[in-house]
Amino acid sequence: MSGFRLEDVVRNNIKDLAPYVSARHTFIGEAKALLDANESPYGDGIVNRYPDPLVSSLREEIAKRENVKPEQVVCGNGSDEILDLIVRIFCEPGKDSILICPPTFGMYKVSAAINDVEVKAVPLINNFQLNIEGIVAEKAKVLFLCSPNSPTGNLMDVSDIEQILQEWPGVVVIDEAYIEFTESESWVSTLAMFPNLIVTRTFSKFWGLAGCRIGYGIASAEIVSFLAAVKPPYNVDNLAYNAALEALSQEDEKKRQAAIQLEQRDILKNVLVSLSFVEKVHPSDSNFLFTSLREDATTLYEHCKANGIIIRRYGKDPMSIRISAGTPEETEHLIAVLRSYTSK
Ligand SMILES: *Cc1c(COP(=O)(O)O)cnc(C)c1O
Repeated sequence: MSGFRLEDVVRNNIKDLAPYVSARHTFIGEAKALLDANESPYGDGIVNRYPDPLVSSLREEIAKRENVKPEQVVCGNGSDEILDLIVRIFCEPGKDSILICPPTFGMYKVSAAINDVEVKAVPLINNFQLNIEGIVAEKAKVLFLCSPNSPTGNLMDVSDIEQILQEWPGVVVIDEAYIEFTESESWVSTLAMFPNLIVTRTFSKFWGLAGCRIGYGIASAEIVSFLAAVKPPYNVDNLAYNAALEALSQEDEKKRQAAIQLEQRDILKNVLVSLSFVEKVHPSDSNFLFTSLREDATTLYEHCKANGIIIRRYGKDPMSIRISAGTPEETEHLIAVLRSYTSK
C-alpha cells in the first residue's frame, strides 16, 4: 500500500479555508422574488440569474451514471480548471512538485508553472507506455497521467496504472478526456480502492461542448470537498450547465457522431501510412492520430494551412503531427491536400 493520507498532502492553508458563501449557496429553490443577489430581475431567468454554485442537478446526473455519490463530483470551467485546482490544493508554491510523463497534455505543466510548482518528468517509453520504475523512484505531491493520452492517442496499460495507484504515496490524477471514445472501463470504478485517485473528464470532446467550458472531477468525497471549497462559486455558468444536461440526454446521438469520427480516423490512417513522408501512424484509442514524419513538420503544416486545413504541430517535437478526426467531407479534403503534398 502507498500509505496515502489525505491530511498529509493537502496544503495547510486549504485545510483551514473558510469558503466564500454566496447568495445562491444560502437559497436554492423556487421563490416569488429573488432579492438576495443584486441581479437584474429582467431576463429569461437563465442569463440574468447567477447559476447554482453547487451545480446540483448535473452532479447528481453524473453521479448516477458513474455509480458514485454526488459528493464525489466537482464541476469546473472545463476540466482545465479542475486540473489547476488540483495543483492549487496540494502543492505549496516554491516548495512542492508535480510529476508528468511526456509527451502529454500541456496544461499540467502550465498550471504548475503558474502556481510556482516544480515540474518533474519521467518520459513515456515503449510505445508511449509508462516508465513504472522511473515513476516510483520519483517524489512529488501529484502525478498526472492521461489515458488515452494526448498527443499520443493511446490508453495506458491497466496493470501499470494499478501498480502506480498502489505504490505512489501522493495523489494520482487520471485525465480521461478521451475515455468515451474507447471501450475501456473508466478508473472511476476503482475509486473505492484508491483514496489517492482523482479522475478528470470533460464535455469538450465526445460531448461536443468545447465552446461552453465544462468538465468535472471524480474522487473521494474528502478530496472533492477541498476542490469545491477552492473553486470560484459561479465557475459553471447556466448555459454550460444546461448544455451539459442536454448533451447527457442525447448520448445515443453523441455515440453516433463519435462512431463517424472514429471511422474517419481509420480512413485517414489508411491513407497516411501509404505516404512517403510518413514514418509511423501511432495506434489511437482516441478521436485523433499522432503521426511521426520523416521530415520536419513545418512544410506539411504550411501546405495544409495554405489549403485551409489546420493540423497540430509541436515545437519540441518537430517531426510529429497530431490530426483530429473530422467529418467525412473534411477527411476527403484533407486526403486530397495530403496527396498533393506528396506529389510535389
Ligand atoms: C481537451 C483536453 C482537456 C481539456 O478539456 P477542457 O474540459 O476543455 O478544459 C484535458 N485533458 C486533455 C488530455 C485534453 O485533451
